[in-house]
Amino acid sequence: MKKRILTGDRPTGQLHLGHYVGSLKNRLELQHKHDQFVMIADAQALTDNYDHPEKIRTNIFEVMLDYLAVGIDPQKTVIFIQSQIPQLFELTFYFLNMVTYNRLKHNPTVKAEMQQKGMEENVTAGFMIYPVSQAADITLFGGELIPVGMDQLPILEQTNEIVRRFNSIYQTDVLKEAKPLFSDCPRLPGADGKAKMSKSLGNALTFSASSKDIEEVVKKMYTDPHHLKVQDPGKIEGNVVFTYLDAFDPDKNRVQDLKDHYQRGGLGDMTLKRHLMQVLEEFIAPLREKREQLKQEPKRVLDILHEGTLRAKKEGEKRLEEIKEAMKISYRFQNFTAFR
Ligand code: ATP
Ligand code: MG
Repeated sequence: MKKRILTGDRPTGQLHLGHYVGSLKNRLELQHKHDQFVMIADAQALTDNYDHPEKIRTNIFEVMLDYLAVGIDPQKTVIFIQSQIPQLFELTFYFLNMVTYNRLKHNPTVKAEMQQKGMEENVTAGFMIYPVSQAADITLFGGELIPVGMDQLPILEQTNEIVRRFNSIYQTDVLKEAKPLFSDCPRLPGADGKAKMSKSLGNALTFSASSKDIEEVVKKMYTDPHHLKVQDPGKIEGNVVFTYLDAFDPDKNRVQDLKDHYQRGGLGDMTLKRHLMQVLEEFIAPLREKREQLKQEPKRVLDILHEGTLRAKKEGEKRLEEIKEAMKISYRFQNFTAFR
């Protein structure tokens, strides 16, 4: 049975290898079998970038280039801009009644991001409630399966709590619970060994990274700090080079041989890193090229986004009516009994 897929990305920068393994790879498969909506979450990105709207605006185009270069097919996937769907914000407002302030304060993803971004006491109300607006994104579009990275798990749990509360209060089943779909690499670490490759942490390799960028990032990549001499046995666990090889080297037997060799001793970090550089170059080069081509056709790229946004708007209007119907606030002015 065809399922509705809803997912998205914040236009805070170009997409990177973490997006690919964590979510995009799954989206490429899902679009053939299911009914997929992909949202560029500009309004959510503004919650921590409200003072840099130009950054968000220009990155909408960059993210579009990334989607099309990587193979998101606009014939199969509806791509749209969040801020253009007013129904999302109306639904967010109703959903805010379905969650306590205390619960929002304890969302582990929000807590970690607040700390990482140095917000703490000065956190805005808009940022605090972004998981509620994400619940609106998912449910307005009836998202059943959500291909996301591991950092999104607490947000999805929050969404499902809202769904259950809403359905029980209004005695309805108009909202569906959403299931996360994780990939085999749900959290790609940063090249610096940090927990997550992220646009905001400045540790990312984008789809337009040059051979030199790749070389620089891999050279600095975290390995086994106790593997000092080539002949020493080295560790695989926590070794970022192997995490990346697992994620990007298409030849799994070769990766296994390298792991065995490394653990036995005799395989130097630099030899290993040279191999990873080549693997990443082979992965990124065609994306880099495709991106360059697409950049020459901005009208075509923006037409796709415009068309997708119009389709999403129609869907949003229809769904919000259904949801308001369930809340008994879908007033019909022609019918005077509606307000009695
Ligand atoms: P920001 O730093 O602005 O939050 P980000 O790099 O975290 O940006 P998002 O737009 O927040 O990117 O995330 C989009 C999707 O990509 C989410 O599903 C997220 O879980 C996934 N994702 C992002 N980074 C990684 C990663 N390093 N590994 C796996 N999945 C990731
Ligand atoms: Mg993020």
